[in-house]
Amino acid sequence: MITPELQQEYFEALLCKKTEYEGIFYVGVKTTGVFCRPTCPARKPKFENCEFFKTAKEALIASFRPCLRCRPLSHPGQVSPLVQMLVNAVEENSEKRWKDMDFRALSIDASTARRQFKKRFGMTFVEYARARRMGIAMKQIRDGESVINAQIASGYESGSGFRDAFSRIMGTAPGLLKEENALKTAWIDTPLGPMIAIADDNGLYLLEFADRRGLELEIERLRQKTKSAIVPGTTKPIDSIKKELDQYFKGTLQEFKTPLILFGSPFQRQVWDELKKIPFGQTVAYITLAIAIHKPSAFRAVANANGANQFAIVIPCHRVINANGDLGGYGGGIARKQWLLDHEKRK
Ligand SMILES: [Zn+2]
Repeated sequence: MITPELQQEYFEALLCKKTEYEGIFYVGVKTTGVFCRPTCPARKPKFENCEFFKTAKEALIASFRPCLRCRPLSHPGQVSPLVQMLVNAVEENSEKRWKDMDFRALSIDASTARRQFKKRFGMTFVEYARARRMGIAMKQIRDGESVINAQIASGYESGSGFRDAFSRIMGTAPGLLKEENALKTAWIDTPLGPMIAIADDNGLYLLEFADRRGLELEIERLRQKTKSAIVPGTTKPIDSIKKELDQYFKGTLQEFKTPLILFGSPFQRQVWDELKKIPFGQTVAYITLAIAIHKPSAFRAVANANGANQFAIVIPCHRVINANGDLGGYGGGIARKQWLLDHEKRK
């Protein structure tokens, strides 16, 4: 989590090309879609077009591609020609799903490629290629964000091009997939736009609006934490949440019963438990929440835990607002937060 204060600090470091920030952060530039190191010689972006990351991997997964001038993936002289060749190959054909025989076609030994990539990026080449592929597909969904926002006003209709991007992200299981070790993911259309649910037979792991910023990173983390492939399909908890969401949007359901599987730190869990206690149709302030868990000075940490919630609507972080009555932030966008609160008040 990069706080607003840190973002300011990084931005100043970026403007001054401070070398001591090398390796501390990377900056993605929303207008160009590239990401840079702090010392990049290219013209500096405006603050509002910057997105900061702690690692190059996160920037990649968030759909930014490496800048050709500052080469954020390589330390000068350290990146091997083989790694550089593979990075280029991914950029040229980002939708390709790589297999060992593809390496042979490039006269590359797959195990050497794997070892060198792991050493350089902390992930295998296949993971890297998948991260890029997912990042690019997620970007297409986000680029459609304005379309979704417009549709929220007029009533969202399914069938827009987002499904294609979704199946490109989730379409094929990586490697030697063992069916029992896979989470299932489904696309759920709602009046507020499409949501993505991920679950196994025991419970739901994630429920988010498909265009939420950083969703690809959440999915990748989930994949790693659970050591599971995520493939399209359905499970009982997915069927259940579909039904419950439908009732929620119709106004006939106020409390969700689909089982959730929560990760997160003990502190985050505490905040999420508290969130679940906020009744339908009511709001509380971040500070009130902090007091409720007996950590009145930690309201910023509370806000962060709130933002880390991976169950949109079900764990009602949209019911938390600023003490002065302002809406505050929302991962799914302020328009949706307002809509949800209005919807709950109508009942
Ligand atoms: Zn650059």
